[in-house]
Amino acid sequence: MTQQAESVDPYTAADGCFECQRCGSRTRSEERLHECPSCGGRLKNIAIPRE
Ligand SMILES: [Zn+2]
Repeated sequence: MTQQAESVDPYTAADGCFECQRCGSRTRSEERLHECPSCGGRLKNIAIPRE
């Protein structure tokens, strides 16, 4: 029963979501990323809806 609650966790899902400002690709990582793995562009943390 606890498993269902764990699979649906919006807070965790938003944590560590980055968007490349150069190519626009999104990457999920538990670690902090600073460079896009595809193009090496700057990544922006989009876990926070407003800045
Ligand atoms: Zn990129």
